[in-house]
Amino acid sequence: MTGEQFLLLPGPTPIPDRVLRAMNRPMINHRGPEFKNIIFEIMEGVKKIYQTKHNILIYPSSGTGALEAAIVNFISPGDKVLAVSIGVFGERFATIAQKFGADVEIIESEWGKPIDFQLIRDRVLKDVNNEIKAILITHNETSTGVFNDIKLLKEVLGDHPALVMVDAVSSLAALDLKMDDWELDVVISGSQKAFMVPPGLSFMAFNEKALQAYENSRMPKFYWDISLGLDYLEKGQTPFTPAISIFYGLQESLRMMLEEGLDNILNRHQFYRQIVRLSVKEMGLNLLAPESNASPAVTSVIAPNNIGANRIRRVMQDEFNITLAGGQKSLDDVVFRIGHLGYIRELDLLSCLAALEMALVKLGFNLELGCGIKKAQTLLYDNHC
Ligand SMILES: *Cc1c(COP(=O)(O)O)cnc(C)c1O
Repeated sequence: MTGEQFLLLPGPTPIPDRVLRAMNRPMINHRGPEFKNIIFEIMEGVKKIYQTKHNILIYPSSGTGALEAAIVNFISPGDKVLAVSIGVFGERFATIAQKFGADVEIIESEWGKPIDFQLIRDRVLKDVNNEIKAILITHNETSTGVFNDIKLLKEVLGDHPALVMVDAVSSLAALDLKMDDWELDVVISGSQKAFMVPPGLSFMAFNEKALQAYENSRMPKFYWDISLGLDYLEKGQTPFTPAISIFYGLQESLRMMLEEGLDNILNRHQFYRQIVRLSVKEMGLNLLAPESNASPAVTSVIAPNNIGANRIRRVMQDEFNITLAGGQKSLDDVVFRIGHLGYIRELDLLSCLAALEMALVKLGFNLELGCGIKKAQTLLYDNHC
Protein backbone atom coordinates (compact mmCIF):
# COMPACT_ATOMS: atom_id res chain seq x y z
CA MET A 1 0.00 0.00 0.00
CA THR A 2 1.47 3.31 -1.01
CA GLY A 3 0.73 6.78 0.23
CA GLU A 4 0.64 8.38 3.59
CA GLN A 5 -0.99 6.52 6.41
CA PHE A 6 -3.97 8.00 8.18
CA LEU A 7 -3.34 7.96 11.88
CA LEU A 8 -6.64 8.08 13.74
CA LEU A 9 -5.37 7.00 17.14
CA PRO A 10 -6.13 8.71 20.44
CA GLY A 11 -2.43 9.58 20.55
CA PRO A 12 0.03 9.98 19.06
CA THR A 13 -1.97 12.23 16.74
CA PRO A 14 -1.08 13.72 13.33
CA ILE A 15 1.36 16.64 13.39
CA PRO A 16 0.65 19.78 11.33
CA ASP A 17 3.31 20.71 8.76
CA ARG A 18 3.90 23.99 10.55
CA VAL A 19 4.85 22.08 13.69
CA LEU A 20 7.03 19.59 11.82
CA ARG A 21 8.94 22.41 10.17
CA ALA A 22 9.35 24.27 13.44
CA MET A 23 10.95 21.22 15.01
CA ASN A 24 13.45 20.81 12.20
CA ARG A 25 15.97 23.25 13.67
CA PRO A 26 19.43 22.96 15.23
CA MET A 27 19.94 22.54 18.96
CA ILE A 28 20.42 25.57 21.16
CA ASN A 29 21.85 26.08 24.62
CA HIS A 30 19.09 25.17 27.05
CA ARG A 31 20.64 27.58 29.55
CA GLY A 32 20.71 30.52 27.15
CA PRO A 33 18.45 33.47 26.31
CA GLU A 34 16.86 31.85 23.25
CA PHE A 35 15.53 28.90 25.24
CA LYS A 36 14.34 31.24 27.96
CA ASN A 37 12.15 33.10 25.45
CA ILE A 38 10.74 29.83 24.16
CA ILE A 39 9.86 28.42 27.59
CA PHE A 40 8.25 31.68 28.73
CA GLU A 41 6.12 31.89 25.59
CA ILE A 42 5.13 28.25 26.00
CA MET A 43 4.19 28.69 29.66
CA GLU A 44 1.86 31.54 28.81
CA GLY A 45 0.21 29.50 26.06
CA VAL A 46 -0.17 26.33 28.08
CA LYS A 47 -1.77 28.30 30.93
CA LYS A 48 -4.41 29.57 28.52
CA ILE A 49 -5.25 26.02 27.48
CA TYR A 50 -5.43 24.96 31.15
CA GLN A 51 -7.45 28.10 31.95
CA THR A 52 -5.24 28.63 34.97
CA LYS A 53 -3.02 31.25 36.57
CA HIS A 54 -1.10 28.65 38.55
CA ASN A 55 2.28 27.03 38.07
CA ILE A 56 2.89 24.48 35.35
CA LEU A 57 6.00 22.35 34.94
CA ILE A 58 6.95 20.54 31.76
CA TYR A 59 8.82 17.24 32.02
CA PRO A 60 10.62 15.28 29.31
CA SER A 61 8.42 12.20 29.64
CA SER A 62 5.24 10.63 28.37
CA GLY A 63 2.03 11.45 30.25
CA THR A 64 2.54 8.67 32.77
CA GLY A 65 5.69 10.39 34.02
CA ALA A 66 3.64 13.37 35.15
CA LEU A 67 1.10 11.05 36.81
CA GLU A 68 4.01 9.69 38.85
CA ALA A 69 5.24 13.26 39.49
CA ALA A 70 1.83 14.09 40.98
CA ILE A 71 2.00 11.13 43.35
CA VAL A 72 5.57 11.69 44.56
CA ASN A 73 5.19 15.44 45.05
CA PHE A 74 1.83 15.74 46.72
CA ILE A 75 1.21 12.65 48.83
CA SER A 76 3.10 10.62 51.43
CA PRO A 77 3.46 6.87 51.97
CA GLY A 78 0.47 5.67 54.00
CA ASP A 79 -1.82 8.50 52.92
CA LYS A 80 -5.38 7.49 52.18
CA VAL A 81 -6.13 8.12 48.53
CA LEU A 82 -9.47 7.70 46.77
CA ALA A 83 -8.94 6.63 43.15
CA VAL A 84 -11.85 7.00 40.76
CA SER A 85 -11.43 4.56 37.91
CA ILE A 86 -13.58 4.11 34.82
CA GLY A 87 -11.02 2.29 32.68
CA VAL A 88 -7.39 1.51 31.95
CA PHE A 89 -6.00 4.96 32.71
CA GLY A 90 -7.93 5.27 35.96
CA GLU A 91 -6.43 1.93 37.00
CA ARG A 92 -2.97 3.16 36.06
CA PHE A 93 -3.18 6.27 38.24
CA ALA A 94 -4.39 4.11 41.16
CA THR A 95 -1.56 1.62 40.60
CA ILE A 96 1.09 4.33 40.67
CA ALA A 97 -0.23 5.57 44.01
CA GLN A 98 -0.24 1.99 45.35
CA LYS A 99 3.32 1.35 44.20
CA PHE A 100 4.45 4.42 46.13
CA GLY A 101 2.83 3.17 49.32
CA ALA A 102 -0.44 5.08 49.43
CA ASP A 103 -3.45 3.40 51.01
CA VAL A 104 -5.60 3.37 47.88
CA GLU A 105 -9.33 2.83 47.85
CA ILE A 106 -10.91 2.50 44.43
CA ILE A 107 -14.33 3.69 43.32
CA GLU A 108 -15.20 2.49 39.86
CA SER A 109 -17.82 2.20 37.17
CA GLU A 110 -18.46 -0.50 34.66
CA TRP A 111 -16.17 0.15 31.68
CA GLY A 112 -18.02 2.28 29.16
CA LYS A 113 -19.82 4.30 31.82
CA PRO A 114 -18.82 7.48 33.66
CA ILE A 115 -18.48 7.50 37.43
CA ASP A 116 -21.62 8.06 39.46
CA PHE A 117 -20.69 11.18 41.44
CA GLN A 118 -23.09 10.18 44.18
CA LEU A 119 -20.63 7.39 45.07
CA ILE A 120 -17.90 9.97 45.60
CA ARG A 121 -20.20 12.20 47.61
CA ASP A 122 -21.29 9.32 49.87
CA ARG A 123 -17.70 8.23 50.49
CA VAL A 124 -16.52 11.73 51.28
CA LEU A 125 -19.46 12.40 53.64
CA LYS A 126 -18.48 9.27 55.60
CA ASP A 127 -14.93 10.59 55.94
CA VAL A 128 -15.69 12.75 58.98
CA ASN A 129 -12.06 12.86 60.10
CA ASN A 130 -10.78 13.98 56.70
CA GLU A 131 -8.57 10.93 56.31
CA ILE A 132 -8.73 11.02 52.51
CA LYS A 133 -5.80 13.13 51.40
CA ALA A 134 -6.29 13.02 47.65
CA ILE A 135 -8.81 12.06 44.98
CA LEU A 136 -7.44 10.76 41.69
CA ILE A 137 -9.73 11.00 38.69
CA THR A 138 -9.49 10.67 34.92
CA HIS A 139 -11.14 13.44 32.94
CA ASN A 140 -11.36 11.66 29.59
CA GLU A 141 -10.94 7.89 29.81
CA THR A 142 -9.18 7.12 26.56
CA SER A 143 -9.67 3.36 26.81
CA THR A 144 -13.47 3.64 26.66
CA GLY A 145 -14.14 7.05 25.13
CA VAL A 146 -16.10 8.22 28.17
CA PHE A 147 -15.53 11.44 30.09
CA ASN A 148 -16.27 12.26 33.71
CA ASP A 149 -17.99 15.60 34.20
CA ILE A 150 -15.37 16.86 36.65
CA LYS A 151 -16.82 20.33 37.00
CA LEU A 152 -19.29 18.64 39.37
CA LEU A 153 -16.50 17.70 41.78
CA LYS A 154 -16.38 21.08 43.49
CA GLU A 155 -19.97 20.72 44.65
CA VAL A 156 -19.70 17.00 45.39
CA LEU A 157 -16.68 17.51 47.67
CA GLY A 158 -18.05 20.54 49.49
CA ASP A 159 -15.49 21.63 52.06
CA HIS A 160 -13.66 18.31 52.24
CA PRO A 161 -9.95 19.22 52.05
CA ALA A 162 -8.76 16.35 49.80
CA LEU A 163 -6.51 17.36 46.95
CA VAL A 164 -8.13 16.81 43.54
CA MET A 165 -5.68 15.35 41.04
CA VAL A 166 -6.89 15.02 37.46
CA ASP A 167 -5.50 12.98 34.58
CA ALA A 168 -6.37 15.26 31.67
CA VAL A 169 -3.86 13.78 29.23
CA SER A 170 -6.37 13.10 26.47
CA SER A 171 -8.85 15.85 27.31
CA LEU A 172 -6.94 19.12 27.49
CA ALA A 173 -7.59 21.15 24.33
CA ALA A 174 -10.31 18.71 23.23
CA LEU A 175 -12.76 18.99 26.12
CA ASP A 176 -13.33 22.06 28.27
CA LEU A 177 -11.33 22.06 31.50
CA LYS A 178 -11.33 25.13 33.73
CA MET A 179 -8.66 24.31 36.27
CA ASP A 180 -9.13 27.40 38.45
CA ASP A 181 -12.92 27.82 38.25
CA TRP A 182 -13.51 24.15 38.96
CA GLU A 183 -10.96 24.16 41.81
CA LEU A 184 -8.84 21.33 40.46
CA ASP A 185 -5.59 21.20 42.41
CA VAL A 186 -3.29 19.16 40.17
CA VAL A 187 -3.91 18.64 36.45
CA ILE A 188 -1.75 16.45 34.23
CA SER A 189 -1.49 16.38 30.47
CA GLY A 190 0.82 15.32 27.65
CA SER A 191 2.07 16.54 24.29
CA GLN A 192 0.97 13.76 21.94
CA LYS A 193 -2.82 14.10 22.17
CA ALA A 194 -4.76 17.29 21.44
CA PHE A 195 -1.61 19.45 21.59
CA MET A 196 -0.64 18.19 18.08
CA VAL A 197 2.98 17.61 19.07
CA PRO A 198 5.01 14.37 19.11
CA PRO A 199 5.16 12.30 22.31
CA GLY A 200 7.81 13.27 24.83
CA LEU A 201 6.51 16.14 26.98
CA SER A 202 4.22 15.95 29.96
CA PHE A 203 2.64 18.83 31.84
CA MET A 204 1.73 19.18 35.48
CA ALA A 205 -0.18 22.21 36.74
CA PHE A 206 -0.69 22.70 40.49
CA ASN A 207 -2.17 25.38 42.71
CA GLU A 208 -1.35 26.81 46.17
CA LYS A 209 -3.23 24.06 47.97
CA ALA A 210 -1.08 21.49 46.17
CA LEU A 211 2.04 23.45 47.13
CA GLN A 212 1.04 23.16 50.77
CA ALA A 213 0.62 19.41 50.34
CA TYR A 214 4.07 19.34 48.76
CA GLU A 215 5.53 20.97 51.88
CA ASN A 216 4.12 18.13 53.99
CA SER A 217 4.97 15.29 51.61
CA ARG A 218 7.44 12.70 52.92
CA MET A 219 7.74 10.84 49.63
CA PRO A 220 11.31 10.45 48.27
CA LYS A 221 11.75 12.33 44.99
CA PHE A 222 14.45 13.75 42.83
CA TYR A 223 13.83 13.93 39.08
CA TRP A 224 10.20 14.98 39.51
CA ASP A 225 10.74 17.32 42.49
CA ILE A 226 8.71 20.48 41.85
CA SER A 227 10.91 22.73 43.96
CA LEU A 228 13.78 22.12 41.54
CA GLY A 229 11.46 22.71 38.60
CA LEU A 230 10.08 25.95 40.04
CA ASP A 231 13.55 27.33 40.89
CA TYR A 232 14.79 26.75 37.37
CA LEU A 233 11.60 27.96 35.72
CA GLU A 234 12.13 31.37 37.29
CA LYS A 235 15.37 31.59 35.30
CA GLY A 236 13.67 30.35 32.13
CA GLN A 237 15.21 26.91 32.39
CA THR A 238 14.48 23.33 33.40
CA PRO A 239 16.55 21.46 36.02
CA PHE A 240 17.67 18.83 33.52
CA THR A 241 18.11 18.88 29.74
CA PRO A 242 14.71 19.54 28.16
CA ALA A 243 13.41 17.85 24.98
CA ILE A 244 14.38 20.93 22.94
CA SER A 245 12.98 19.80 19.56
CA ILE A 246 9.58 19.10 21.05
CA PHE A 247 9.64 22.52 22.72
CA TYR A 248 10.07 24.03 19.24
CA GLY A 249 7.06 22.05 18.09
CA LEU A 250 4.97 23.00 21.11
CA GLN A 251 5.77 26.68 20.65
CA GLU A 252 4.40 26.49 17.10
CA SER A 253 1.37 24.35 17.97
CA LEU A 254 0.39 26.76 20.75
CA ARG A 255 0.57 29.63 18.28
CA MET A 256 -1.77 27.69 16.00
CA MET A 257 -4.12 26.91 18.88
CA LEU A 258 -4.28 30.51 20.04
CA GLU A 259 -4.87 31.71 16.48
CA GLU A 260 -7.80 29.31 16.24
CA GLY A 261 -9.07 30.12 19.75
CA LEU A 262 -9.85 27.65 22.50
CA ASP A 263 -13.63 27.87 22.03
CA ASN A 264 -13.34 27.08 18.34
CA ILE A 265 -11.04 24.16 19.08
CA LEU A 266 -13.47 22.72 21.63
CA ASN A 267 -16.44 23.18 19.27
CA ARG A 268 -14.52 21.49 16.48
CA HIS A 269 -13.97 18.44 18.68
CA GLN A 270 -17.65 18.33 19.64
CA PHE A 271 -18.49 18.35 15.96
CA TYR A 272 -16.06 15.48 15.22
CA ARG A 273 -17.72 13.48 17.95
CA GLN A 274 -21.12 14.08 16.43
CA ILE A 275 -19.99 13.20 12.89
CA VAL A 276 -18.41 9.93 13.97
CA ARG A 277 -21.13 8.83 16.34
CA LEU A 278 -24.09 9.58 14.10
CA SER A 279 -22.44 8.13 11.02
CA VAL A 280 -21.41 4.91 12.73
CA LYS A 281 -24.89 4.48 14.21
CA GLU A 282 -26.32 4.88 10.72
CA MET A 283 -24.13 1.95 9.64
CA GLY A 284 -25.95 -0.18 12.21
CA LEU A 285 -23.12 -0.37 14.74
CA ASN A 286 -23.39 0.34 18.46
CA LEU A 287 -21.35 2.77 20.51
CA LEU A 288 -19.82 2.01 23.89
CA ALA A 289 -20.23 5.47 25.48
CA PRO A 290 -23.61 6.95 26.40
CA GLU A 291 -24.41 10.16 24.53
CA SER A 292 -24.28 12.28 27.72
CA ASN A 293 -20.66 11.38 28.46
CA ALA A 294 -19.27 10.52 25.03
CA SER A 295 -15.76 11.80 24.49
CA PRO A 296 -15.05 14.50 21.91
CA ALA A 297 -11.53 13.03 21.56
CA VAL A 298 -12.12 9.35 20.84
CA THR A 299 -15.08 7.14 19.96
CA SER A 300 -15.26 3.45 20.91
CA VAL A 301 -17.32 1.47 18.44
CA ILE A 302 -18.62 -1.98 19.38
CA ALA A 303 -17.77 -4.43 16.60
CA PRO A 304 -20.40 -6.92 15.41
CA ASN A 305 -19.47 -9.91 17.56
CA ASN A 306 -19.34 -12.37 14.69
CA ILE A 307 -16.66 -10.19 13.07
CA GLY A 308 -14.57 -8.82 15.92
CA ALA A 309 -12.88 -5.44 16.23
CA ASN A 310 -9.40 -6.60 15.32
CA ARG A 311 -10.39 -7.99 11.93
CA ILE A 312 -12.00 -4.67 11.09
CA ARG A 313 -8.84 -2.85 12.13
CA ARG A 314 -6.71 -5.18 10.02
CA VAL A 315 -8.76 -4.55 6.87
CA MET A 316 -8.70 -0.79 7.54
CA GLN A 317 -4.93 -0.97 7.81
CA ASP A 318 -4.18 -3.37 4.96
CA GLU A 319 -6.67 -2.10 2.40
CA PHE A 320 -6.91 1.58 3.22
CA ASN A 321 -3.85 2.53 5.25
CA ILE A 322 -6.01 3.81 8.09
CA THR A 323 -4.76 3.13 11.60
CA LEU A 324 -7.39 2.77 14.31
CA ALA A 325 -6.83 1.81 17.93
CA GLY A 326 -7.99 -1.47 19.39
CA GLY A 327 -9.76 -2.13 22.66
CA GLN A 328 -7.59 -2.47 25.76
CA LYS A 329 -7.65 -5.35 28.25
CA SER A 330 -11.23 -6.71 28.57
CA LEU A 331 -12.32 -4.62 25.57
CA ASP A 332 -9.74 -6.22 23.25
CA ASP A 333 -11.48 -7.33 20.04
CA VAL A 334 -14.77 -6.02 21.46
CA VAL A 335 -14.34 -2.38 20.43
CA PHE A 336 -12.17 -0.41 18.06
CA ARG A 337 -11.44 3.22 18.77
CA ILE A 338 -11.45 6.11 16.32
CA GLY A 339 -9.26 8.95 17.58
CA HIS A 340 -10.47 12.39 16.52
CA LEU A 341 -8.39 14.81 18.50
CA GLY A 342 -5.79 17.37 17.65
CA TYR A 343 -4.90 17.99 14.04
CA ILE A 344 -7.79 16.22 12.33
CA ARG A 345 -9.60 17.56 9.30
CA GLU A 346 -13.28 16.93 8.75
CA LEU A 347 -12.66 15.26 5.39
CA ASP A 348 -10.17 12.88 7.03
CA LEU A 349 -13.06 11.61 9.10
CA LEU A 350 -15.15 11.19 5.97
CA SER A 351 -12.38 9.05 4.43
CA CYS A 352 -12.19 6.97 7.57
CA LEU A 353 -15.94 6.42 7.66
CA ALA A 354 -16.05 5.52 3.95
CA ALA A 355 -13.28 2.98 4.46
CA LEU A 356 -15.04 1.59 7.51
CA GLU A 357 -18.17 0.90 5.47
CA MET A 358 -16.12 -0.93 2.85
CA ALA A 359 -14.24 -2.93 5.49
CA LEU A 360 -17.52 -3.97 7.08
CA VAL A 361 -19.01 -5.09 3.78
CA LYS A 362 -15.85 -7.00 2.94
CA LEU A 363 -16.15 -8.82 6.26
CA GLY A 364 -19.72 -9.83 5.52
CA PHE A 365 -21.63 -7.23 7.54
CA ASN A 366 -24.97 -6.36 6.02
CA LEU A 367 -24.83 -2.70 5.14
CA GLU A 368 -25.57 -0.49 2.19
CA LEU A 369 -22.47 1.40 1.11
CA GLY A 370 -22.88 5.11 1.68
CA CYS A 371 -25.46 5.03 4.48
CA GLY A 372 -23.11 6.31 7.18
CA ILE A 373 -21.27 8.60 4.81
CA LYS A 374 -24.49 10.24 3.78
CA LYS A 375 -25.16 11.13 7.41
CA ALA A 376 -21.65 12.55 7.88
CA GLN A 377 -21.86 14.47 4.65
CA THR A 378 -25.23 15.93 5.60
CA LEU A 379 -23.85 17.15 8.92
CA LEU A 380 -20.86 18.71 7.18
CA TYR A 381 -23.03 20.27 4.51
CA ASP A 382 -25.36 21.81 7.08
CA ASN A 383 -22.34 23.18 8.90
CA HIS A 384 -20.75 24.74 5.84
CA CYS A 385 -23.18 25.47 3.07
C1 LIG B 1 -2.31 8.84 26.77
C2 LIG B 1 -2.82 8.90 28.16
C3 LIG B 1 -1.96 8.86 29.29
C4 LIG B 1 -0.48 8.82 29.19
O1 LIG B 1 0.05 7.78 28.49
P1 LIG B 1 1.57 7.84 28.06
O2 LIG B 1 1.68 6.68 27.14
O3 LIG B 1 2.38 7.71 29.29
O4 LIG B 1 1.77 9.17 27.39
C5 LIG B 1 -2.51 8.98 30.54
N1 LIG B 1 -3.82 9.12 30.70
C6 LIG B 1 -4.68 9.16 29.67
C7 LIG B 1 -6.14 9.33 29.95
C8 LIG B 1 -4.21 9.04 28.37
O5 LIG B 1 -5.06 9.09 27.33
